[in-house]
Amino acid sequence: MSNESLANLLKEERRFAPPAELAASANVTADAYAQASEDRLAFWAEQARRLSWAVEPTETLDWSNPPFAKWFADGKLNVAYNCVDRHVEAGNGDRVAIHFEGEPGDSRAITYAQLKDEVSKAANALESLGVAKGDRVAVYLPMIPEAVVAMLACARIGAAHSVVFGGFSADAVASRIKDADAKLVITADGGYRRGKPSALKPAIDEALTKVDGVENVLVVRRTGEEVAWTEGRDVWWHELVDGQSAEHTPEAHDAEQPLFILYTSGTTGKPKGILHTSGGYLTQASFTHNAVFDLKPETDVYWCTADIGWVTGHSYIVYGPLSNGATQVIYEGTPDTPHQGRMFEIVQKYGVTILYTAPTLIRTWMKWGDDIPAGFDLSSLRVLGSVGEPINPEAWVWYREHIGAGKTPIVDTWWQTETGAIMISPLPGVTETKPGSAQRALPGIAATVVDDEAREVPNGSGGYLVLTEPWPSMLRTIWGDDERYVDTYWSRFEGRYFAGDGAKKDEDGDIWLLGRVDDVMLVSGHNISTTEVESALVGHPAVAESAVVGAADATTGQAIVAFVILRGTAADSEELIADLRNHVGKTLGPIAKPKQIKVVSELPKTRSGKIMRRLLRDIAEGREVGDTTTLADSSVMNLIQSQLPAAG
Ligand code: ATP
Ligand code: MG
Repeated sequence: MSNESLANLLKEERRFAPPAELAASANVTADAYAQASEDRLAFWAEQARRLSWAVEPTETLDWSNPPFAKWFADGKLNVAYNCVDRHVEAGNGDRVAIHFEGEPGDSRAITYAQLKDEVSKAANALESLGVAKGDRVAVYLPMIPEAVVAMLACARIGAAHSVVFGGFSADAVASRIKDADAKLVITADGGYRRGKPSALKPAIDEALTKVDGVENVLVVRRTGEEVAWTEGRDVWWHELVDGQSAEHTPEAHDAEQPLFILYTSGTTGKPKGILHTSGGYLTQASFTHNAVFDLKPETDVYWCTADIGWVTGHSYIVYGPLSNGATQVIYEGTPDTPHQGRMFEIVQKYGVTILYTAPTLIRTWMKWGDDIPAGFDLSSLRVLGSVGEPINPEAWVWYREHIGAGKTPIVDTWWQTETGAIMISPLPGVTETKPGSAQRALPGIAATVVDDEAREVPNGSGGYLVLTEPWPSMLRTIWGDDERYVDTYWSRFEGRYFAGDGAKKDEDGDIWLLGRVDDVMLVSGHNISTTEVESALVGHPAVAESAVVGAADATTGQAIVAFVILRGTAADSEELIADLRNHVGKTLGPIAKPKQIKVVSELPKTRSGKIMRRLLRDIAEGREVGDTTTLADSSVMNLIQSQLPAAG
């Protein structure tokens, strides 16, 4: 960004008060903000008591060697014990932990008592393969219960897992296995995607021709398809794990014992192995899951639609919900298999009360049409969450109206792989929400927006989002690369964590995320956020989705180029394009009018559903399209190019 701070163009005046009933019984009330700001460390020390410690910590934060933090360093705990055993010991062994819904329609309910047995058996199995505390285990599985069991088994014995998203290629897997120096890989023959088996093991077989050090591959049988087998290396899960004892003593590990490495999705640059440890991470995952979703473990049915391969799956499928004793749904497949109502059918079937999903899916639902959710009973829902990208105000309002019956609070949660847990979000029983804003740092979290000179911007202005105090679930380093950790996050602004996202503060001091700093456009000397222009476009009734980029322009420096996907019946025409440009001009001001608008049927997205604007910038600037390996569907770029007039 230039010295000119980010323009603050979008005005969104709609406000939604929390439902009275929810406010009256909310897990966390407004007092938490006051309590945390009075004594932040005491607040977190109290939250740590949500967990069962084998040795209670007496120290909260050790920040004597910044930016290398230690939280609760003299405490000891077992993360798996906290997620499973203690619920059984408390008499809740019969509570369902996981309602698994396979894509072909098979389902399994797993209680906490059963989960405890499964995790114990798997922990014994890992130990029988020579995996020990401090080792790394790569996990490359579909969305099946064994993925959760595998992660918890690692946590139980003190081995760090490195989950690699099941859609990644052999090369991507190989580089992650190598970087983490994993000893064991846990995979499956395959999983179900789009109505058919999709193989996983071949990618591992290929990856292991490129890296050394992996002694065994533990293979879950999910699809029953034929797999290649390397004798002496490959072991079937059902042969090894099922026969183990269901007794396994959970050892108490140090609070700073590495829990997992997770590679960021690679929207930008070379993937970084983000290291998270145990006590602080679990404290904040547990606290935020309880506070932000208002989870009532006895009555709620929670569903997070993320894949276990992303941080959202780690913190809000595995560690947050299970540490809180939640009942949750896990779904294996794609949202439109066998029909576009599948997700709503699952909400109806299990009586889901809390739904946590991503803007990309919400906009896809909008595109498919309002009548699809209207065909299902969604009345059980009481809290809706969003994560992964800024949510456009219009998508937010659609989500509330069509999924939340016009009454559920929406929590727009900002956080990152690096932050480990939610950092900025409304609280559903406290906050008067604003469509499109994540609003306020959670109790115990310190965030603000600064300009190029690291000065806090006044309300009504934009700049860079920074975190000004360490937090319990912060990354501890980049695996094997302390220097890159310091350079990437702690060097741009002295003593502050630089998130890489643009943001603005509104007149009330609430925070609005404006997309990645790399995506901000500079038009005639004004910094304009791609997010705001996209939100203006999605605010037009004809537009379902849009992606906006700044393309080099001889007169204005950069010119705004928009790619749009139209909703249902809208047809591409010159009149519509003119109307869209005027609509943006009216909503944001003439400076933000796109120079060009291109109608397409798909947008390039990462496998976690984020729009990859740099590829669209390549198209807009007439360049050869760059690296597409992290795209969910690599054919999308060809499709988009074929839909554009040759002259661009
Ligand atoms: P990489 O860092 O390799 O590019 P990534 O940033 O896509 O990968 P994640 O850690 O999953 O990987 O994503 C975090 C980013 O997602 C944030 O920095 C932000 O840009 C975006 N994000 C997440 N939640 C929100 C939200 N509620 N509002 C706005 N942006 C969000
Ligand atoms: Mg990132």
